[in-house]
Amino acid sequence: RVLRVARQPLTEGKAGRALWSLRDVTQQKLVEQARDQFIDTATHELRTPLSNIRAYSETLATGDVVDLEAVKEFCTIINSEATRLGRFVDDLLTISSLEVGALTIERHNVMVDRLLSEAAMKAKPLMEQKQIEFEVQAPAKPIEMKLDKDKIAAAITNLLGNAAKYTPEGGHVSLKATAQGGELRIAVADTGLGIGEDEHTRVFEKFFRSADERVRDTTGTGLGLPLAREVARLHDGDITLESKIGQGSTFTLTLPIG
Ligand code: ADP
Repeated sequence: RVLRVARQPLTEGKAGRALWSLRDVTQQKLVEQARDQFIDTATHELRTPLSNIRAYSETLATGDVVDLEAVKEFCTIINSEATRLGRFVDDLLTISSLEVGALTIERHNVMVDRLLSEAAMKAKPLMEQKQIEFEVQAPAKPIEMKLDKDKIAAAITNLLGNAAKYTPEGGHVSLKATAQGGELRIAVADTGLGIGEDEHTRVFEKFFRSADERVRDTTGTGLGLPLAREVARLHDGDITLESKIGQGSTFTLTLPIG
């Protein structure tokens, strides 16, 4: 657990020095944790798919696999591992462009209900796989907004993907959009694992993944939420979280209208 220390440390005397060094230790701990998490994820998300691709292609190259169905299955595995690798590399590149201030958005006119139904369609198979009840609600009136459609769609898809991933079979997920007070609110709610109060801020940090075993058992990079929040902020919006451990989570993407 990371120690919390005063933001305005005493600068004089022993107590002040102690506070400063405590702050340094805390800072160092956070840096170390972030580094460990990065190494963990990079190892897993780069090495695992690469070694699978190597193993399956080597086996195919021997010419010993003659059964057509087996060959097809091996090729499908190679393809999906390459896709997983590609996704991680894309996320890494996006996070790097964010770091150097090169992540930009291109706004176009977008109908909100269309954006939602496309994201819902994409997420539907994930929900079906786990028999998750999936509810979608568009805003009462049609709304047109100037948005970077691809980036906002990717952010919503990420929230829905997480909801599916971190909700056990037979749960419930909803995607609801409402327009109020000059703001569009897109809420993704699930009845999944939930997130403890101590992790509410941390889930938006790069590479952060909960220590919960059920999270560790799923694949992930810890890049989805930080990227989604950044995209929201580039649109002068934000992503907020309400969650109780064991009860579920609601991530709300807010965007100013007009
Ligand atoms: P990833 O899902 O690839 O690990 P994200 O950045 O999307 O990365 O999420 C970071 C972490 O936040 C997850 O590893 C998980 O611990 C937590 N999290 C995100 N969405 C949910 C959710 N809907 N329910 C429970 N935990 C979640």
